[in-house]
Amino acid sequence: MKKLLLFMAFCCHALLPAQDYFLKNYQPYNPEIPSPETYLGYGIGEMHTRHDLIVSYLEKLAEVSDRASISYYGKTHEGRKLVMLTVTTPDKLEKLEELRQQHLKLTQPENQEAIPESMPVFINLAYNVHGNEPSSSEAALLAAYTLVASEHPAIARYRDQAVIFLDPTINPDGRDRHTQWANSFRSNPLVADPQDAEHNEMWPAGRTNHYWFDLNRDWLLGINPESRGKLNWYHHWYPNVVTDFHEMGTQSTYFFEPMKANGSLDPIMPKENYEDLNNLFGDYFAAALDSIGSLYFTKEVFDGTYPGYGSSYPDLQGGLGLLFEQASSRGHKQTTAYGEITFPFTIRNQYVSSLTTVKAAVENKEYLKDYQRRFFRSALKNADDSRIRGYKFNATNDQNRVKSFIDKLLLHRIKVYESADGGYVVPTKQPQYRMVQTMFETYDKYRDSVYYDASAWSVANFYNMNYQPVSSLKLGNEISSAESVVNVKPVERSDYAYILDWDDYNTPAALYYLQKEGLVLASAFKPFTVRSDNGSKKFNYGALVLPVQLQKKDSGQVYELIKKAQEKFQIPVHAVSTGLNLNGVDLGSRFIKPLKEPKAAMLVGNGVRSYEAGEVWHLLDTRVHMPITKIPMRNLSRADLSKYESLVMVSGNYHLTDAEKDKIISWVKQGNTLITIGSASEYIIDKKWVDEKLTKIEKDSLAIPERLPYVDADEHLGKESVGGVILKASLDNTHPLGFGYRDQVIPVYKNNEVWLAPSKNEYATVAKYTANPHIDGFITKKNMENYLKPSASIVTSPLGSGRVILFADNPNFRGSWYGTNKLFLNALFLGEYIEIPN
Ligand SMILES: [Zn+2]
Repeated sequence: MKKLLLFMAFCCHALLPAQDYFLKNYQPYNPEIPSPETYLGYGIGEMHTRHDLIVSYLEKLAEVSDRASISYYGKTHEGRKLVMLTVTTPDKLEKLEELRQQHLKLTQPENQEAIPESMPVFINLAYNVHGNEPSSSEAALLAAYTLVASEHPAIARYRDQAVIFLDPTINPDGRDRHTQWANSFRSNPLVADPQDAEHNEMWPAGRTNHYWFDLNRDWLLGINPESRGKLNWYHHWYPNVVTDFHEMGTQSTYFFEPMKANGSLDPIMPKENYEDLNNLFGDYFAAALDSIGSLYFTKEVFDGTYPGYGSSYPDLQGGLGLLFEQASSRGHKQTTAYGEITFPFTIRNQYVSSLTTVKAAVENKEYLKDYQRRFFRSALKNADDSRIRGYKFNATNDQNRVKSFIDKLLLHRIKVYESADGGYVVPTKQPQYRMVQTMFETYDKYRDSVYYDASAWSVANFYNMNYQPVSSLKLGNEISSAESVVNVKPVERSDYAYILDWDDYNTPAALYYLQKEGLVLASAFKPFTVRSDNGSKKFNYGALVLPVQLQKKDSGQVYELIKKAQEKFQIPVHAVSTGLNLNGVDLGSRFIKPLKEPKAAMLVGNGVRSYEAGEVWHLLDTRVHMPITKIPMRNLSRADLSKYESLVMVSGNYHLTDAEKDKIISWVKQGNTLITIGSASEYIIDKKWVDEKLTKIEKDSLAIPERLPYVDADEHLGKESVGGVILKASLDNTHPLGFGYRDQVIPVYKNNEVWLAPSKNEYATVAKYTANPHIDGFITKKNMENYLKPSASIVTSPLGSGRVILFADNPNFRGSWYGTNKLFLNALFLGEYIEIPN
């Protein structure tokens, strides 16, 4: 093996020039270790490297060198490996577990043991969270090679004083989507014209993962396997420094931190992090980039306020997260105002920043370790200084939603207990106090007002948890696994009927499962109270009734299926033996309406907002286990819509032809349901598909506006966009869209400027913002008073024998809004049964 390798190395070195452009500063290199160029058969920057080749190169390094080992922290939705290459000296590699245990003392505030100076610093070089920002994974190959194979004294010192964890591709599914594109359209000679196909990816582009999620927002929300694997890895190692490499517009240069100053009045993150540490590291990056003649900028843009970025989450774990943004060549070479930007040029900047990160971390390792220790100690002190001792939470009638929320808390290593007086409680005094704040605290005062992303992220509201701060604790058992949260009583056999609560998050999935098995269930449009062994039990709007004798299967088979549904989805199911109820309607009432299996489609493709479409797809695939047909916009004119009863149009920039518009409208008029979200709702109102209105304020055409400095225009205009805010909506929970909700006021998420006017029909405004709607996040007074307060969040509108359900706000945001998902699922499962009285 080694012999063959030597031969290969020799042979290929003779054929291919060494990539001095990147590697010359760290010579000599161990000739027994193949360079990326030798291994791949092409020079870095000449092609886009597929993820499987990246993995196989790192596996090769781990195989041939005793300075590297490889581990796997998960698999993507499409089955690609998520890998971590660990590089250090051979002796440290052998006692890695011992080093980890030592290192973890930094994160244990009560631990007083001194950490020996010989302890290495833990560095996580992480690359390519956005798949179509490809320079960084190529740089990862060069960095891995350099760190493993270089015999240069500087690199030897890094190996000696650090353990480097190199994650070459955080988002392999998205990366390969883009890699395939860029290589397929690569020309020879290269075409630099920005109008060439190579530089213009097709929808949905490679930025996002399989379900079109932005993984650089998912560190807090932990929805996707890429982030979940990484978070578990993270809390195993707690690195001191973490990189997050990106690309930005082609006409730009290079960005590194410090970012724009923190906008919050009372930031959770210590100032020391984003002032002292970022400036300290910033000087290193400036010097390194100066030495290769690259331009760059700092501070102007990007804020690290949102805690779910790859560059901000580490800051909340006693580490230093570092954002890098390289102007993209998007393709192999592209014309810019400065001439041409090439793929190798972008790769070199990322490579230089990678090695400079290692250098800066090694040269400041005592500071970084001390900082991490003080960070976790200050968490306990901050908690002591607050009068809040903990947060109590629960959600009655929906233990699966509570379970999912607790899963999120545990993913971040937040300690959760049963509360001795019912529900659950999270104490504030714990090492993860800052994550507790992140999950529960809300804000309404900011120094700044223009956000790079959302300004609200109190996750407890995403899950519609009923929660309160408490000033004293009654702790019960600690919750070690979310699995223990749901305990359903096994259903007994009935020859008459079964009843399923619609309140549980998993009931729509159970309904679809039973429908697929050929059973017919009915939805209660009015509540009722049944007789039961222990007196009576009340069921709310939307409860599902499964009459046994009306099914095509016999009562034994029905029982087997309902038991299976309960085991699969862990939902409460009740057996009843009479249709005569104590209160409310009886089981044979006309208000208990038999449901058909839903058949749904969604428009995707050019113009459609892929994030929102992906959220719908992800919800139905992974939680409801129900297919939805994704119809490409380009096929709409010849698609057969008669196969579906609902059609989803998420936000987007739609330009439908008259023929396409007429096609959809005539299909709705035949009794079907169109569901529009966000700007799709605005579009169909603007284009008069429905007789509804937007909230508009007439501008006084005579008023002369105040003169303002030109330089402030971006900042002022930016303020008026709603970046993401959590609001209270009053919900009509007697309306089918409100079924499954006991509360009349629920949190909703708004990140657009779609202002729906309430319906002129008294029964068709399903959700409207309350008089004092603000819960969390930034919104200007002008938007709040003039637009938000008079507007509705959900309106239904009749169209022929069908109807349109218009959502102003996105009920499925980032796969995390468990609290509003049911509004959307109600539209799919019950939309057909909504009659809009005139
Ligand atoms: Zn990016």
